[in-house]
Amino acid sequence: MKARAERLADRVAELDVDLVLITGAANVRYLTGYTGSSGVALIGPVTRAFITDFRYVDQAAGEVHPSFERRRGQSPLLGSIADVLPAGTSRLGFEREHVTVRGYAQLSEVLPGIELVGLDGLVETLREVKEPDELEALRASAVLADTAFERLLHDGLIGRTERELALALEHDMRQRGADRESFPTIVAAGPHGALPHAPPREVEVRRGDLVVIDWGAELDGYCSDCTRTIAAGEAGDDERSVYELVLGAQLAALADLRAGLAGREVDRIARAVIDAAGYGEAFGHGLGHGVGIEVHEGPSLSRRSDHELVAGNVVTVEPGVYLRGRFGVRIEDLVAVTEDGCELLTSVSKRLIVSD
Ligand code: ZN
Ligand code: ZN
Repeated sequence: MKARAERLADRVAELDVDLVLITGAANVRYLTGYTGSSGVALIGPVTRAFITDFRYVDQAAGEVHPSFERRRGQSPLLGSIADVLPAGTSRLGFEREHVTVRGYAQLSEVLPGIELVGLDGLVETLREVKEPDELEALRASAVLADTAFERLLHDGLIGRTERELALALEHDMRQRGADRESFPTIVAAGPHGALPHAPPREVEVRRGDLVVIDWGAELDGYCSDCTRTIAAGEAGDDERSVYELVLGAQLAALADLRAGLAGREVDRIARAVIDAAGYGEAFGHGLGHGVGIEVHEGPSLSRRSDHELVAGNVVTVEPGVYLRGRFGVRIEDLVAVTEDGCELLTSVSKRLIVSD
């Protein structure tokens, strides 16, 4: 954690600012270890300061890395920044994505004469390359989610509502030690599966439905993300052939995924398979996204992504085909990029599972 703040401090020097103010909760957590909701960090060549309010002082004492000087500020915290800034500060960098318009006005008011410099992706870029302990946390999170899913299948799908299945999966993940689900679980049966982000309904799964289940656990602050499409009881010929197509696209992308490829090149590999079968229009989203402290972070695998993958990136590979009014298929794995390939963090089988 000390090394993370040091890497950021090196960037501060390059950015021609005296210090940076970190306000994004996931970024504050990454740099300091603090998991609460109200906390900001100030980092400069020698400054390591963390500010929280009365409610979180004890929690911060237990969590914030000792290389940070801890301060108690008044709410709103941005009003307390002036007390912590070293004398002579003239340019303060801030995270443009993580300061509200009101927060910006507060900063301008309490820091007269100090130039505020909006910056993008300062910490997010560091977070894209996972350290060994982060990879370990992501593996554990994926294993937990996989185990809960196997349990769900064991208990059966047919006759249970989408909402009931989603709740059962979330409850089981919590019981197995997850902090929470990484995002609201998707369970979408039959035609509803053609909506990529379908909210679960009070509708029962029926024999013959394809059921898209997209779920993940957050464990020790790290998320997992996985999708499987299950055939309830039996699968029709069209369903089977679209399933095999999506699986073929996913396997093709996984086979070539490695450090050095651009995000859009990996996307293109899977998309070419689906395009060639005439379903290009039915695959309307990007191939994947980075996962870590947040379930959606960098780098992205999409048509527009110039990001060159490096070892330590953790991404999803999730092609899908969505046929309006009929059914949808998505298959998503979580993988860690390595120099010469990738490590699969998801272990649930990808053969079409037919389950009652
Ligand atoms: Zn997902
Ligand atoms: Zn995903």
